[in-house]
Amino acid sequence: MERRNQIYEGKAKILYETDDPALAIQHFKDDASAFNAKKLGNIVDKGVFNNSISSKLFEEVAANGVPTHFVKKLSDREMLVKKLDMLKVEVVVRNIVAGSLARRLGIDEGKHLPHPIIDLHYKDDSLDDPLINDDTADAFGYATYDELKHMRESALKVNEILTKFFGARNIDLVDFKLEFGRCADEGGKLLLGDEITPDGCRFWEKGTGRKMDKDRFRRDLGNVEETYAEVDRLVTS
Ligand code: ADP
Ligand code: UDP
Repeated sequence: MERRNQIYEGKAKILYETDDPALAIQHFKDDASAFNAKKLGNIVDKGVFNNSISSKLFEEVAANGVPTHFVKKLSDREMLVKKLDMLKVEVVVRNIVAGSLARRLGIDEGKHLPHPIIDLHYKDDSLDDPLINDDTADAFGYATYDELKHMRESALKVNEILTKFFGARNIDLVDFKLEFGRCADEGGKLLLGDEITPDGCRFWEKGTGRKMDKDRFRRDLGNVEETYAEVDRLVTS
């Protein structure tokens, strides 16, 4: 598989064309950002850990019936993916109150929810990824009602798969963000894209509540690199 021109460089990854127009290479960088790029930094070898973690988790969800863009891991920092037309909607699934939900409703972090909550955000850093609902997404053409239904169902299925996977590793899956895209090569079918990593998930050690995700960077908690390495070991072992 030959790497060709760069399609896009984002905050954490670079996407390249390949000699197959239906496929792209996703390269994971060490760059870290938080608060919609207001805080920037670098986490040594984050790209290597995130490529490894994401590869394993995409395999896990695909094996349990959720179609994804993941084709195969190519190298330490690169994976081959199906090229998607990404929807500008971020799908956040929450099991435990944390982050913006706690801030928005004035609740302490840590409450276990009676059932998962799905929050939709319009993906636009300049607007701080505002919270939207299904009507807004459909009215402005960010995603159709059918696509939103599909994303909600897939997101809940991913939640079940990953809650079990991390539970077996003594980790609570607190919340996470997913992105989906249309695959032109498969008749516009929606596939799970982007990444599943500690950058876009909250993982708390069961019992202690120790944070094992990007909150260590966001909140200057220390041991950032060590924690990404630890999550990689737990996920791939
Ligand atoms: P951001 O764009 O938020 O800075 P990244 O640095 O992670 O984020 O950039 C990766 C970009 O690639 C994201 O915008 C994501 O939506 C997009 N993307 C992820 N998977 C695919 C795919 N399979 N095909 C096309 N674009 C993708
Ligand atoms: N998230 C993300 N990208 C975003 C916003 C959120 O990956 O642009 C993830 C985040 O890592 C967390 C979950 O989505 O696992 C919920 O984030 P929240 O809305 O609580 O926002 P935060 O407090 O992180 O700003």
